[in-house]
Amino acid sequence: MNAYVKSVIENVKAKYKSEPEFVQTVEEVLTSVSPLVDKHPEYEEADLLNRMVTPERMISFRVVWMDDNGKYHTNNGYRCQFNGALGPYKGGIRFRADVYPGIIKFLAFEQTFKNALTGLPIGGGKGGSDFNPIGRSDAEIMRFCQAFMTALYRHIGPEIDVPAGDIGVGGREIGYMFGQYRRIKGVWENGVLTGKGLTYGGSLIRPEATGYGAMYYLNEVLKAHGEDIKGKTIAVSGYGNVAWGICKKAMHMGAKVVTISGSQGYVYDPDGISTSEEKVDYLLEMRAKGSIKDYADKFKVKFVPNSRPWGEKVDIYMPAATQNEVDLEWAKRIVDSGARYYIEVSNMPTTNEALQYLKEHNVIVAPSKAANAGGVGVSAMEMSQNAQKLVWTEEEVDSQLQRIMQNIYKISVETAEEFGLGYDLVAGANLAGFKKVAQAMLEQGVF
Ligand code: NDP
Repeated sequence: MNAYVKSVIENVKAKYKSEPEFVQTVEEVLTSVSPLVDKHPEYEEADLLNRMVTPERMISFRVVWMDDNGKYHTNNGYRCQFNGALGPYKGGIRFRADVYPGIIKFLAFEQTFKNALTGLPIGGGKGGSDFNPIGRSDAEIMRFCQAFMTALYRHIGPEIDVPAGDIGVGGREIGYMFGQYRRIKGVWENGVLTGKGLTYGGSLIRPEATGYGAMYYLNEVLKAHGEDIKGKTIAVSGYGNVAWGICKKAMHMGAKVVTISGSQGYVYDPDGISTSEEKVDYLLEMRAKGSIKDYADKFKVKFVPNSRPWGEKVDIYMPAATQNEVDLEWAKRIVDSGARYYIEVSNMPTTNEALQYLKEHNVIVAPSKAANAGGVGVSAMEMSQNAQKLVWTEEEVDSQLQRIMQNIYKISVETAEEFGLGYDLVAGANLAGFKKVAQAMLEQGVF
């Protein structure tokens, strides 16, 4: 490994001991880009790598809100504006009890390279709160979102930083946050958030975009291996927005999603979730209620409590719930199952050692920063529509989404080959995204 890369990784490990997710992603990305750093001594001269692993800004704020019984609660809110070299910071907001700066920073770092891969002018950012929305009433969610935006609004704007949804934040939460932004600022700036409702500037296909994009990416991988997506079985984790988009597109493409999961366990439906509109639509209802077991009760299928679907016999695995949901033990089960394809869809679903194990055992691995980039791709299209005061048709958005995913696949394959790494989608995506951000930073001078 390049000596400068090694020293930066050691520096990050020492500095961010209490933020293991951030250390994990830095190690993974920098290890991949070592051959690029070998070729560019000017990176070290400009101390580019240490700049790359340091957020431009990490904003931390207090969020105070009142529950339905009149009791006050205080949460922590964050926005990490990691890297703005390519455009306004762009990335989602996560509401989940386990959110802390290490999660927000890892997500914002990943987002920077993912956004670069889309080819669109967007920088990397991410935000969130340790607020737990599960079991909260609609009025409580509204008051929380309003309090969150009251603290955040001064740091964002259509040309500054444009947040979107993530775990725990969907169309409803974006609506409440946009309403509060408008109320405080007194301006119609709908380009400040993406994932909005269609009545006030949302884009068609945005809710489905991450899942659809992942399926388009998967299709490219299969085509390259002479396989047809039709008839393939898929194990998906999560049952949220992204899992729903995967199921919807799998239905269009004739693939069969047989598992979904949540923190309480997983469901195995041998007839397929993606084979019935009623089942796919039911995912949206379940997400609002927050209970995965409801699916098994309603459709009378197997529910496995406190477990994950890795190891069920399928053709393709698509983790789509959260970070580090596949560790070495689960990776061994995936390899033992005989499946050939592993498409990361949630952000950093795989520990570094599990990722290594899968690759060493000839499983074709697609990294999340490439496979899940369709969501932010369509978000950037939403920004364009808002800026031009236009509404694009479903066909226009969908065909651009397909083109973005095909390009990401192509550039990842070509970049890995350029560096003599063969067919390595993980290294190819890291190298291609990193190279673009590095070049923009160098051209913009030292700051
Ligand atoms: P949702 O909030 O809609 O759904 C999240 C799902 O993941 C739920 O099924 C939830 O189950 C499960 N989950 C969350 N945390 C855990 C955990 N610690 N253990 C087990 N299950 C968990 O989120 P999204 O579908 O939007 O996001 C899913 C993933 O995709 C995230 O990693 C997100 O960062 C990533 N992503 C999302 C994009 C988007 O456009 N929405 C874009 C790009 C990436 P339960 O409620 O039972 O905990």
